[in-house]
Amino acid sequence: MIPMVDLAAGHAAHQEAIEKAVSGVIRSGHFIGGPEVRAFEQEVAAFLGVPHAISCASGTDALHLGLLALGIGPGDEVITTPFTFFATIEAIVYVGARPVFVDIDPATLNLDVGQLADAVTERTRAVLPVHIFGQPVAMEELMVFADRHGLTVVEDCAQSFGARRGGRYTGSFGDVGAFSFFPTKNLGACGDGGLMVTGSAEVADRLRLLCNHGSPERNRHQRIGYNSRLDAIQAAILRIKLRHVEAANEARRQVARWYKAGLQGIAGIDLPQTPDGGDHVYHQYTVLVPEQTRQALAEKLSQAGISTAVHYATPAYRQPALAPDYQGLCLPVTESVTRRCLSLPIYPELRPEQVETIVGTILRSL
Ligand SMILES: *Cc1c(COP(=O)(O)O)cnc(C)c1O
Repeated sequence: MIPMVDLAAGHAAHQEAIEKAVSGVIRSGHFIGGPEVRAFEQEVAAFLGVPHAISCASGTDALHLGLLALGIGPGDEVITTPFTFFATIEAIVYVGARPVFVDIDPATLNLDVGQLADAVTERTRAVLPVHIFGQPVAMEELMVFADRHGLTVVEDCAQSFGARRGGRYTGSFGDVGAFSFFPTKNLGACGDGGLMVTGSAEVADRLRLLCNHGSPERNRHQRIGYNSRLDAIQAAILRIKLRHVEAANEARRQVARWYKAGLQGIAGIDLPQTPDGGDHVYHQYTVLVPEQTRQALAEKLSQAGISTAVHYATPAYRQPALAPDYQGLCLPVTESVTRRCLSLPIYPELRPEQVETIVGTILRSL
């Protein structure tokens, strides 16, 4: 069997260090906040090259609190992509704003920056790009656009920890970068966790208030906030995994090169593209196949013991929770990609002979 991800394999090399760190936290009695959380925030800020990093309970919270801290609220429109995990959209709805969808670029599967202008109205306040599957959005171009129109930018980096553009990490371009440490993400905890990064000390202060009951000090509540904190056990584990995340991302890129060597130029399968120097971290390795072939190919792979997944089968605006408000919306590239996409197994420990097996099975099945 070849799974989509193998978290046990990912932890095996660090098992001892992780167990030691966890028992250290248990002995210390500091479970919420405390030295491990502070140290992780400092180390991850240094890694990403950002002035401020504030941990929280999940990637969804990081997006939600990021939008709140930037003052996005009822009546505002936030331009985003319909080809994402649904949490991106939920965060916009939580603050009372309206998601406005633009179509995606067929090469990168990211929001098409060239189409932003058509989506701007007098209510537009923010853009929420998602670095989907670990492929960085064209942030230089997007930031120029946002500055010109006076828009705030929140980056959804849930799938792109460690991805760069022009040497800069995703999350460091926008007003707030939101990260998830859900176990399967490129930097994953052994539970839920999230992070918000920002260049603004003022926004950082607001984020710290928001994730801890609006409380700057004990017994004082300056505003209505939330309980959204990274716990110390997860912080201790993340400190260990942060030291290995570059190597893990490089191992993912190596897997992608093996896939490319085996599948490039084969009719009926389009591989991930990394145009203009974007530094992809392959949270997923998602290919496009003809609509009529996808189901049969997934079944043949499954019969050979190879897992696949469809990310994402439905444009966000067609999800039952949103569909009534977006009747008639039909973004052609998104529609086509949701019918053609198929994600293949990818994780740092995937071995070359396993990739060979997957490639061989695909070639026989197409
Ligand atoms: C995982 C994910 C999230 C949500 O992160 P959680 O930590 O699970 O709340 C948001 N956006 C995208 C694109 C994701 O992949």
